[in-house]
Amino acid sequence: MNSSETSACVFCNIVSGRIPAVFLLKDDDIVAFKDVHPVAPIHALVIPRRHVAGVGEVALDDTMLLGRIIAGARTVAAELGLSEAGYRLVINEGAGAGQSVLHLHCHVIGGRPLSWPPG
Ligand code: 5GP
Ligand code: ZN
Repeated sequence: MNSSETSACVFCNIVSGRIPAVFLLKDDDIVAFKDVHPVAPIHALVIPRRHVAGVGEVALDDTMLLGRIIAGARTVAAELGLSEAGYRLVINEGAGAGQSVLHLHCHVIGGRPLSWPPG
C-alpha cells in the first residue's frame, strides 16, 4: 500500500484484495468490479488503482487517468452486452452529489430503461 492509499478506504482494500469483489476488468491503471448494491441489472464500478478521492482531486497532469476510466467503463459495458441498448456512466463528486466512497469511481449502469433527469 503506497502513501496515497489508506487502509480505511474500501476501494483501496478491494484493489489490494483485502476486501473481496467480483472483478470484471484489471489492468495496470484501473480495475472494474460489480457494485455490491446494484441499482440495475448491470451495475459495475471502474476505479483507478491509485487512491484519488474524486474528480476534484485529479491533477491536470493526470487527466489521462480519467480517459482510462471512461475507456474501461466502455469495455465493461461492451463485455456485459450493453453496447446496443445503451448504458449510463455516472461519477458522483462530493457529498451533495451522493458520493459515499471517497475513491474516484465511475458507475456503469444498464440492463433496464434509465429515466432522465436522474434524482
Ligand atoms: P457513490 O455513492 O460513492 O457514488 O458510490 C459508491 C458505490 O460503492 C455504491 O454504489 C456502493 O453500493 C458501492 N460499494 C460500497 N462499498 C462497496 C463494497 O465493499 N464492495 C462493492 N463491490 N461495492 C461497494
Ligand atoms: Zn482508496
